[in-house]
Amino acid sequence: MDRFDGDLDAVVARAGAAGVDGVIVVGSDLASSRAAVELARARQRMWATAGIHPHDARHANLEALEEIARLARRPEVVAVGETGLDFYRDLSPRIEQERAFRMHLSIARQVAKPVVIHDRDAHSDILRVLRSEGLPPAGGVMHCFSGDQAFAEECLAMGLLISIAGPVTFGNAVRLHEAARAVPMDRLLVETDCPYLTPHPYRGRRNEPAYVVEIARKVAELKGLPPMEVAARTTANAVRLFRLG
Ligand SMILES: [Zn+2]
Repeated sequence: MDRFDGDLDAVVARAGAAGVDGVIVVGSDLASSRAAVELARARQRMWATAGIHPHDARHANLEALEEIARLARRPEVVAVGETGLDFYRDLSPRIEQERAFRMHLSIARQVAKPVVIHDRDAHSDILRVLRSEGLPPAGGVMHCFSGDQAFAEECLAMGLLISIAGPVTFGNAVRLHEAARAVPMDRLLVETDCPYLTPHPYRGRRNEPAYVVEIARKVAELKGLPPMEVAARTTANAVRLFRLG
């Protein structure tokens, strides 16, 4: 994303210093998916995803989706997405979002890679589409999970992993805290979703990969585990899901 253009090397150096062992750079449209692949080609311990975010679903025509499928076959690309449904901002018509989501699930099946699902205010529709299409065999993750414990349990029953982001560090996130406690350690990921959703105590600044430490720390507190154990387990889960070399 262009918010990292000015200081990418420093951002990467801070991530390394914080103990971040690798970074998945997420594509959200054609241009950012291409850029993510280029970054992953150029740098060690970086991987990419390719997808068209539900915000941009109205641009996800067949030609664009063919390009996503082509990118998704590349060795640097470890997942298809972001895809899913965003009924909070509704930046694309819902029918277009659902069509694009279904097409991304089909691409994930074709390329045998997992899917990164974005869900905002669309929990029941995400499950409806997944039940009708089936989760791709390589699995998937509910990224930046925003539901409660009951929804987490439905996602787990579908075979998905649950990824926790910065909002878990906010004091008022009681339902998210309950959900994080309920997810078994072998099904849990942590992420930044940077440059968005900056965790406490950095709220108000641009988010960056080094801050994933704050999310792991909060999850460790919620689960009563040492932070290093949460770091090791979530890293192992990411390596397994995304088949990171
Ligand atoms: Zn998202």
